[in-house]
Amino acid sequence: APASSGNFIKQIVTDDLKTGKVNEVVTRFPPEPNGYLHIGHAKSICLNFELADEFGGRTHLRFDDTNPAKEDEEYVRSIQEDIKWLGYEWDKLFFASDYFEEMYERALVLIKKGKAYVCELTAEQIRETRGTLTAPGQDSPYRNRSVEENLELFERMRKGEFANGEKVLRAKIDMASPNVNLRDPVLYRIAHAHHHNTGDKWCIYPMYDYAHPLEDAIEGITHSICTLEFADHRPLYDWVIRECEMPNVPQQYEFARLNVTNTVMSKRKLKLLVDEKVVDGWDDPRMPTVSGLRRKGYTPEAIREFCREIGVVKSNNSTVDEKLLEHFIREDLKLKAPRTMAVVQPLKVVITNYPEGQVEQLEAEINPENEAMGIRHIPFSREIYIEQDDFMEEPVKGYHRLFPGNEVRLKHAYFIKCEDVVKDADGNVIELHCTYDPETKSGSGFTGRKVKGTIHWVEAAQAQPAEFRLYEPLILDESAGESADFLSNLNPNSLQTLQGFVEDNMSGAQAQDKFQFFRHGYFNVDSKESSASKLVFNRIVSLKSSFDP
Ligand code: ATP
Ligand code: MG
Ligand code: MG
Repeated sequence: APASSGNFIKQIVTDDLKTGKVNEVVTRFPPEPNGYLHIGHAKSICLNFELADEFGGRTHLRFDDTNPAKEDEEYVRSIQEDIKWLGYEWDKLFFASDYFEEMYERALVLIKKGKAYVCELTAEQIRETRGTLTAPGQDSPYRNRSVEENLELFERMRKGEFANGEKVLRAKIDMASPNVNLRDPVLYRIAHAHHHNTGDKWCIYPMYDYAHPLEDAIEGITHSICTLEFADHRPLYDWVIRECEMPNVPQQYEFARLNVTNTVMSKRKLKLLVDEKVVDGWDDPRMPTVSGLRRKGYTPEAIREFCREIGVVKSNNSTVDEKLLEHFIREDLKLKAPRTMAVVQPLKVVITNYPEGQVEQLEAEINPENEAMGIRHIPFSREIYIEQDDFMEEPVKGYHRLFPGNEVRLKHAYFIKCEDVVKDADGNVIELHCTYDPETKSGSGFTGRKVKGTIHWVEAAQAQPAEFRLYEPLILDESAGESADFLSNLNPNSLQTLQGFVEDNMSGAQAQDKFQFFRHGYFNVDSKESSASKLVFNRIVSLKSSFDP
């Protein structure tokens, strides 16, 4: 098997502790508060928190809030909520913006050593003069400014004397380096913008490649884990730590970022779905966000198990089948979720030989795979609802459910036989007349004859009205989520809403309660729109998958 990311990093930590390179493990999860967390972040959260946990170390939560334009308090709040919900506790909470003063001081250290300079090229000119993989870059005409001039200009940048984009601070490294990241990268830019934490105190903001290593060093992070696209930035990370003369020396390690089939996995794109109202907010159950998965009905346990599993099947740019995620929620709910019956597209059935006005209580196990959950009682009477597609007037070959003259078992109840079909003026089937055989009661030991089909039902008078929301992937094409024009690949059937009924014993169902509906799969009570008078259920996942063993 290929070396897994989890094991690879675990091995490094084991060695570092053994050789005394570090005395304890300190990791961090460093989200930028510019969106809600998604399942990719969950992978990073699990990796960082569990790595530290395994070696008795600590994990910081650090908001990497160095880009004022896109950041918001709402995201700061939701990110904390999601991490807690996933079941992790950070040792300390930090904001990178609290280090702005120290970062500024360290920039002065660089300038004084002749390792940084104020450049007046435009962003485009900088891009053009940085060269390519095969061609070296050209020196900026501002590269050889004196230390005094740089100090003065940088101070004036801080004071707000220049407009956005007029000047930047650049590292002075090597314009001919084979690693383009080392060709005098920008360290600071001017942005006259209000910051959610520092207000209007700053108008220069550090770039990621400069800020991130300093943040890690300031906090005493030992193992700084990021995704593979930063592997080429590692020499710059080390350069910043060294040249800024940071007393703590963290090490960066990279692992494969998670992609999931049929899924958009970038906060920028997810925000577009929210802003364009393609979905009903960041927590729409179709979103791969932690809050969307939670509202759909995923449990923290299932997400954590999924993250552990994919940690072990790492390869570069690996895309994980969304069915793997579904596998883990089925596994988690199998023994936990009560089983019950729901009819999502009702068809009335009148059992003509059942006494009018009579109601009997039938017994059913709440979860046959977990007897400890006990039994429930379900009413049965002369009128019930079954599923529209459990009846075919002209059955196709191999159809074993209800059709005229055929007999099926009602789950937990009796055999019924279809005697008559009632239609409206347009010829639509609106009701069935059936007869039942009292001898065939479930659990009675009746063996007189067999039927091939078992269908579910709910008693009509006591059934609770309910709305069912069935989901398909938002993105049609398996990998379209990664492409730029993903908005033209949206699945028009990503949400289907049906009106039906559930058993009467579910009237007390609370937000986020989870059930297995016989044959339909696992469902969650919607946390926003469900009410006592109208239950709303989100389908978490159907019952079977080709992925399950
Ligand atoms: P996005 O591109 O979706 O906005 P990001 O990397 O910009 O993601 P950050 O808030 O900067 O988001 O990321 C916080 C942490 O989560 C980083 O350490 C990053 O490496 C990690 N992370 C983000 N996306 C993924 C992913 N798809 N798989 C694994 N880790 C991820
Ligand atoms: Mg980011
Ligand atoms: Mg990003």
